[in-house]
Amino acid sequence: MAPKRQAASKKSPSPDADEKALDPTLAEHGDASDGEMAQPAKKRKTSAGSKSSKDDKKSGEYGGAPLNDDDGKTFNAKRNDWNPNPGKLPEDGKTPLDQLREELGKQKASEAKDGNVIWFMGMKSLRIEDNRGLAHASSLAKERGGHLIVVFFISPGDWKMHDRAPQRIDFVLRNLAEVQKQLQELNIPLVIHTQKKRTDIPKDMARFAKEWGATSVVGNIEYEVDECWRDIAVIKELSKSNVHVDFLEDVYVVPAGVLKTGQGNQYSVFSPWNRSWTAYLSSNLDLIEESPLPEANDASIRKKGGKLAPLFDSKVPSSVEGFECENVDYMKKLWPAGSHAARTVLDNFIKRKGGENGMDAPATGDCWDDVGPNAKESRIGRYGIGRNLVSENGSSRLSPYLSAGVISARACLRATMNLEKGKLKVGRSTGVEMWNTEVSFRDFYGHVLAAWPRVSMQRNYILKYEAVVWENNEEHFKRWCEGKTGYPLIDAGMRQLAHSSWQHNRARMACAMFLTKHLLCDWRWGERHYARHLIDSDLASNNAGWQWSASTGTDPQPYFRVFNPTSQSEKCDPNGEYIRHWLPELSGVKGNAIHEPFARLSRSEFEKLDYPKPIVEHKAARERALARFKQPGST
Ligand SMILES: Cc1cc2nc3c(=O)[nH]c(=O)nc-3n(C[C@H](O)[C@H](O)[C@H](O)COP(=O)(O)OP(=O)(O)OC[C@H]3O[C@@H](n4cnc5c(N)ncnc54)[C@H](O)[C@@H]3O)c2cc1C
Repeated sequence: MAPKRQAASKKSPSPDADEKALDPTLAEHGDASDGEMAQPAKKRKTSAGSKSSKDDKKSGEYGGAPLNDDDGKTFNAKRNDWNPNPGKLPEDGKTPLDQLREELGKQKASEAKDGNVIWFMGMKSLRIEDNRGLAHASSLAKERGGHLIVVFFISPGDWKMHDRAPQRIDFVLRNLAEVQKQLQELNIPLVIHTQKKRTDIPKDMARFAKEWGATSVVGNIEYEVDECWRDIAVIKELSKSNVHVDFLEDVYVVPAGVLKTGQGNQYSVFSPWNRSWTAYLSSNLDLIEESPLPEANDASIRKKGGKLAPLFDSKVPSSVEGFECENVDYMKKLWPAGSHAARTVLDNFIKRKGGENGMDAPATGDCWDDVGPNAKESRIGRYGIGRNLVSENGSSRLSPYLSAGVISARACLRATMNLEKGKLKVGRSTGVEMWNTEVSFRDFYGHVLAAWPRVSMQRNYILKYEAVVWENNEEHFKRWCEGKTGYPLIDAGMRQLAHSSWQHNRARMACAMFLTKHLLCDWRWGERHYARHLIDSDLASNNAGWQWSASTGTDPQPYFRVFNPTSQSEKCDPNGEYIRHWLPELSGVKGNAIHEPFARLSRSEFEKLDYPKPIVEHKAARERALARFKQPGST
């Protein structure tokens, strides 16, 4: 496996045949049969077939993911605190989302004529604009002549369990502070409650409802299994005191379960799903309509001595123990908080000049020239090119805002419809079309997670790959995390992640594929590392990205797609600007040696760099991966 130095060649290697399409996320064909996914593999290798002896237990910072999946029942046992049927996988019956919807439907219609209303603000709903649940809560409060109260649970136990990055938590807190300011202007209190034990949330919610005279609690549905189970528990607990609960569809544009194949199943292939999504939305434009802002509470709520007045004293903390963010100022610069900032990010993606160096620039992108909405040279106008170039300001950088719900995906679609005479354009011909296609990926992966909840419990979508034997070499994993693999694009990507808590999509794909295919490290290790470092971490998209890269997911492209990290580097960073920016030790390397310094520089030139030689050799690593995937279980 030792990599060989090229004889000072300046020639680019020819790209692998399987890399012909620069954007393979769109190169799909419908060959995934649901039948293949029907049964869990009977005989799974211990710890998903890992060769490492240490991978079942946490072992230091880079320790393996908890792969306690041996008998297919005790999987992820630590999360059973929410599971109403501990020890059982969600697919043993209805999905948690089905169960939640059923539980909502079981409630008697609310007969309340008065009382206050609580809006249960979740981690994916950090805004007051265009928010389905909040708008509904506000209208209920008005109908009943009551007040609207907003509550947010700080739940470090949940955050630890969900591997939240300190930067993500910092972003949540900064956005909460913005939301609190906006709500205060409307005389609506935002109460921040720190929850010691996450399973106490339903009881505490019931206590608040009683204390504050609430007759309804409203939230937005979140599709992840823990969140569904939590919300089922909230409904059950509140029903004991006749408090009605509503959870509304808001996070995704089209609710999961609506779009079905001809056989009545959830789509597992993106392209036909995307056609169905576009057609459905085009004839149900109300799904994209904006929800009204919440109405102000009567000022009497703040009256001194009044029961609810003290709720306005609740403060958003600037940090939470266990999630201290070490680079708050830099995060504030890159990712300013608040829905106003999110709107600026979107507007500047639409009207500011593309083709500029986007690294280290604030997401708001005010620094680039205004060339007019959807102009050819605007960022959205040249999205088809720009989104594949890792050093450019080619993509919107909206992902942190979308995943925390600081802006709605509906608002993104509406903004593009304004550019297209009110039409929803989805496809591959223009920047707008391509961007909307990417925005739809977010819905697709949300639907996948809802239909196959095992993917959010560290299971493979394609179950036969649970037998794949991973190398799980901890030293290799550590070097990948640190950006020291000797493959410049991979290392630059990993340093970008560590530094800015965000990564360009092309870098995510290249780094994830490198870890899972070249290093044969379990995708769950990578998924967890990303969750712990990304500011935009979202279970559905992160998991799907990882399973796509590992060829264990819904993507019907077969396992033998293995990116060549060098040719990827030449395509996505042709001038090496991204690499030179993130790898200062290579900043002096000239020409195309930047993509492969070990092979393209002389030995003495290379040795001066303080840069490692490649950790594995591409061709041999590729062949090893192909063999492992061809026959899951083989070593
Ligand atoms: C291994 C891996 C892990 C990923 N983890 C996450 C994650 O935790 N959170 C996350 O939001 N995205 C994730 N993605 C998807 C994608 O990389 C990011 O959404 C994108 O890079 C965000 O940049 P942007 O906002 O500039 O995107 P743009 O190109 O401007 O796209 C606009 C929006 O569309 C959505 N979107 C675009 N591409 C995808 C995609 N492939 N999957 C799902 N949604 C998409 C995002 O909400 C994005 O903000 C991951 C991809 C991979 C390969």
